[in-house]
Amino acid sequence: MLLRDDTIVAVATPPGHGGVGVVRVSGPASFRIASLLTGRTTAWRPRHVTRARVAADGIVADALVTVFASPSSYTGEDVVEIAAHGNPLLLAAIVARAVDCGARPAQPGEFTLRAFVRGKLDLVQAEAVRDLVEAVSPAQVRNAARQVEGILSARIGAIATELRRLETLLEASVDFPDEGYRFVDGPAVASAIAGVRQDMTTLLGDEAAAAGLRDGVQVVITGAPNVGKSSLFNALLGSDRSIVTSTPGTTRDLVSERLVLGGALVRLVDSAGVRTATDAIEREGVRRASAAAAAADLVVFVLDQSVAPTAEVRAHLAGLDGRVLVVANKCDLPPALDAGDVGRPVLRVSATAGEGLAVLAQAIGELLRGVGSASDAAIVANPRQRAALAASLGFIEHACSEFARVGPTLPEEFVLQDLRGALDALDDVVGRRSREEILGEIFQTFCIGK
Ligand code: GDP
Repeated sequence: MLLRDDTIVAVATPPGHGGVGVVRVSGPASFRIASLLTGRTTAWRPRHVTRARVAADGIVADALVTVFASPSSYTGEDVVEIAAHGNPLLLAAIVARAVDCGARPAQPGEFTLRAFVRGKLDLVQAEAVRDLVEAVSPAQVRNAARQVEGILSARIGAIATELRRLETLLEASVDFPDEGYRFVDGPAVASAIAGVRQDMTTLLGDEAAAAGLRDGVQVVITGAPNVGKSSLFNALLGSDRSIVTSTPGTTRDLVSERLVLGGALVRLVDSAGVRTATDAIEREGVRRASAAAAAADLVVFVLDQSVAPTAEVRAHLAGLDGRVLVVANKCDLPPALDAGDVGRPVLRVSATAGEGLAVLAQAIGELLRGVGSASDAAIVANPRQRAALAASLGFIEHACSEFARVGPTLPEEFVLQDLRGALDALDDVVGRRSREEILGEIFQTFCIGK
């Protein structure tokens, strides 16, 4: 299924009405189909935009047609992009006409799959294209864009090159055993492999940073009962996901949602809050709330500024460490809280009146800047890539521990086994030896037209 040389067509822009909509065609019949659609009789000029009138299903519409000749195109094949007015019926008619002229409707991700099969992108880059399209936070966009550029692939490539160099050395030593003479310098190989282990460990980074980038960093809303935690959660979310009542202690379980606040992708958790539980279920809720707050990247501690905080609340607030943002809610009511008493900067908001929420979102984003997207290097956030990299690192660690156990006289064959295992796993990351089912699974997760 991978190397099909038919011609595919799809709408490449999102569904719905818009300024411009693009129909993409890829494959050997692309130029001919473009000529049939536009009535053009002369040859197309690659990498040029041509103004044309496209006729489809009784509609004639203005369009800009851009053609790319193989191999200088996204897919590596002849590609035509028809940019027309962004009406879904018009675009569907153009696709239908292209199908009448011999194209086949594309499967999800099929354009990028073709780019991969024709060597325009490796698998890391192809997955990054999908991640870039789907990114919701600026950090995700930055990371995916770097990976599309090939920064991660280059780092993996450098590690693979070093492993292949060592493999060649060791193979030569196995092939030409010489009495009393070792072809390779054991300590040098051991130290080169330790270097690879270091590079791979750095590349893999820590799981928390990867999870933060992928799934968002955890922000827990906490505070005494009835201060407006659920109202604030809902106000930030812009929906009514969490039940708001005026009876204290109703949020017994944890409610969480993903959203972007001030540019940071956040898992916002509405917790049971700080109080002395009276029954077992509530106790469990409070326990979960404390656990969530302890694991949080940021705690948003909510006070009701229309009542003076109790000694219990003050003690709790004083005991919080790590990143904490104190929010004085209900600023639409007369104040009974002296912000100076809190001992920390306080942000005044009203969850129900919507006051101060934009500033709060911005402050949350500021406080989380850098969390979950620490370095300039591309972070490996993709679970498939992480698993394959970890498998590769496992072989390298095995070789390192064997060197430590046996010493530099460790037989070459043993080291070679680990090196080959590590290289195979690295090849899986970039798709050098991908099986068709795996590719099928990956590309199914793309949108149509990509
Ligand atoms: P939680 O127990 O901390 O989650 O508090 P809730 O979100 O359930 O809110 C408790 C009560 O305070 C409800 O009656 C809310 O309508 C009310 N409330 C929440 N935020 C505000 C606010 O900004 N201003 C006013 N006046 N009332 C609020």
